[in-house]
Amino acid sequence: MVVVAKFGGSSVSCASQFVKVKEIVTSDPNRRIVVTSALGKRDSNDTKITDLLYILHAHLKYSVPYEDVWKMLFDRFVGVQEELKIDYDIKDDLNSLYKELNKNIDQSYLVSRGEYLTAKLLSSYLGYKFVDAKNLLIYNYDGKLDEVSTEKRVKEALSLYGYIVVPGFYGSYPNETVHLLSRGGSDVTGSILAKSINANLYENWTDVSGVLTADPRIVNKPIAIKEITYAELRELSYMGASVLHEETVFPVQQLNIPINLKNTNEPTHPGTLIKNICTDESSIITGIAGKKDFLSFNISKDHMSNEVGFLRKALSVFEKYNVSIEHVPSGIDSFSVVVSASNVEKIKYDIITDLKNELNAIISVESNIALVAIVGRNMAKHSGVCAKIFQTLGNEGINVKLLAQGPEELNIIIGVDQADYEKTIKAIYNNMIK
Ligand code: ASP
Repeated sequence: MVVVAKFGGSSVSCASQFVKVKEIVTSDPNRRIVVTSALGKRDSNDTKITDLLYILHAHLKYSVPYEDVWKMLFDRFVGVQEELKIDYDIKDDLNSLYKELNKNIDQSYLVSRGEYLTAKLLSSYLGYKFVDAKNLLIYNYDGKLDEVSTEKRVKEALSLYGYIVVPGFYGSYPNETVHLLSRGGSDVTGSILAKSINANLYENWTDVSGVLTADPRIVNKPIAIKEITYAELRELSYMGASVLHEETVFPVQQLNIPINLKNTNEPTHPGTLIKNICTDESSIITGIAGKKDFLSFNISKDHMSNEVGFLRKALSVFEKYNVSIEHVPSGIDSFSVVVSASNVEKIKYDIITDLKNELNAIISVESNIALVAIVGRNMAKHSGVCAKIFQTLGNEGINVKLLAQGPEELNIIIGVDQADYEKTIKAIYNNMIK
């Protein structure tokens, strides 16, 4: 059995977090691949190592004195090494890096040193072999992963060393230069490694005890979700729940490898299990998420329903402007096209003009719409869910402006006035989840 355990920045932010990580990793011999982010924030006012590295790069690029930034970086790494008496001469590696600093240093390379040095510290602290991600995750020049080479290398490394620590967030191109993933990319590293060795489980350790049923900035201490399918997670993430990097699920989903989201600060909490098929039927709604700032183009025309091709003509206007469409709720002689306001900020009037010319219809625009997604695989088997939602919103005096449901009945999306957004989420949480 092989478990890939990825630790996020807050899990390795300081010496005492390293101690927790060691306890977790060594308590299960199946945790054979450890992936780490760079040292993260120790508290909300702190700065992540990755951010410091980006700042350092900007200082170098614009020839601004960078000694203060460098000292902050240096002190954080050395602080962990000294406090835990880790037998790794990090000062030597830091001094070599310092000599490499120059105006033209490759940004990806410099930023990736956060994960590189953290993984070296952690590997030495755990007594596991350090394997550089640059030798494992191989990317083609178009940025696509070379899955065959990657799989071969990961398998080789694991069978050679047994227990390994790998820095997250980067890989390399065939010419060995660093390919940096997008922010939060260590999640993706863990997922790729898990897929490469067909791991039994991918553990993702953070500072929350799993995926929360609602946004904690809106709902006071929302409960965590026990089990969630990959598809449900995608719905929630798409609608704004920040859980994992969005590319994390795909590699493990292909092999049906479950992801367990766990809390480094509360390791006994079961966290959330993300998998293909969930059998827990204890809750009808798995979670709620939402986003503000949508805009609806309302299109109406008498006897529109008899005009074949009307919808296509309308949608092709949005295609022409390269605007992605969120929803198309419809009536008989009217429908609306809901899009993200930021995508049409500068072209709203061009779209209206084109729609008018193309369709000879009445067009109006409604802004300040918030969308709330109520997600739950168990909704499909239950009647009365919509009734309960509307009753809840009715009791609160919240007007539903639009409604959409996908054919899988995995989610119900409601559009409300932006001013009612928080109230909507609170009401549904309090009446239907808590
Ligand atoms: N350290 C990187 C970041 O802050 C990558 C990661 O933590 O996953 O985005």
